[in-house]
Amino acid sequence: MGKKGQHCLLLLLCLSGLVRRSAAFVYWTAIVEIIYVNSSNDTVGKYCECGMYGRNSDLTTASGIVTLPMGDPHGCGSDPVYSRNASSPPWIALVKRGNCTFSEKINAAKWQGATGVVVYNVDSSGNSTTQMSHPEAPHILAVMIGNIQGMEVVGLVRNGTDVEMVIGPGNPHGPWVDPYWLYFLSIAFFVVTAASITYFVFLSASRLYHLNMHRRNERRLKSEAKKAIGRLQVRTLKRGDEETNSEAQLCAVCIESYKAGEVVTVLTCDHIFHKACIEPWLLERRTCPMCKCDILTALGVEEETKEDIGIETPPEATVITVTGGEAVYEVPLSHPANSDPERHQNPYDNRAFEGDSEALRG
Ligand SMILES: [Zn+2]
Ligand SMILES: [Zn+2]
Repeated sequence: MGKKGQHCLLLLLCLSGLVRRSAAFVYWTAIVEIIYVNSSNDTVGKYCECGMYGRNSDLTTASGIVTLPMGDPHGCGSDPVYSRNASSPPWIALVKRGNCTFSEKINAAKWQGATGVVVYNVDSSGNSTTQMSHPEAPHILAVMIGNIQGMEVVGLVRNGTDVEMVIGPGNPHGPWVDPYWLYFLSIAFFVVTAASITYFVFLSASRLYHLNMHRRNERRLKSEAKKAIGRLQVRTLKRGDEETNSEAQLCAVCIESYKAGEVVTVLTCDHIFHKACIEPWLLERRTCPMCKCDILTALGVEEETKEDIGIETPPEATVITVTGGEAVYEVPLSHPANSDPERHQNPYDNRAFEGDSEALRG
């Protein structure tokens, strides 16, 4: 798999993880209705979508008489905490949040036969609710309501009022309906898109840069090759020349024998080729087709070009160590090109010019 494929896979994994994670945030609200008869003998009904189903709750409807724990309003403990049981008319336990786990209070009511458990939130939490997690107490309706609403019902029941409660599912809530989550998801999407675009722009720019560098390098090498070709010895073959007599001597580029009157180029390695054959070859490859000898290196053109474009190459310091008796002399020699101008002039230059003048004369 290519690098691009791996990145796409990673992106997909991230997105699927995000979707799965967001699915865990789905919760259902509960419609809670209370009905009771007040002191003026009027039947009062109150209705709101203000409860929240527990994560492990049955998503069903339940109704019954609201029943409070006998002692501690938190409804914890293993002893019977309610005055009712399974044979009583349907009843719903109303307990306060805290003191023990949600599972413990829900189970305490479930064992005593409650049809549902309503937990109201802690003091001074207003009407806020949270989604209860009660993995040890599944298969029963468990809903949380706000503290204000809970305390109102507790007050009625403590005053001896029979309060009938009906609970049913409201609406699902999750990332796709929650504005906060929508906001978060759109930002995440924007960040992922921006990162991908930046990455691809960077990749393209880097490729373009390398392509450009490669082209520049090719152009430089070609101009160097041109320079080197100009310095190579060129001869016009004459009748009686060794090359024209021997059938064994062939131009390695066109595999043709040499004839008098043809113009040939002599490379630095002394291999001979037709001028018209070897020049395009050298422009592309810069090496002898037979022995791979590099004409740029042999003619010192590469070093010259580096000097032209200002690349400083450290001078080659030759150190001769002379040991005689106990004395040790180290004699560093400066670059031969600097000390001896005659040696700097390439012998092939002369030969090339000689060849040219010969060609002119001939
Ligand atoms: Zn040829
Ligand atoms: Zn050669």
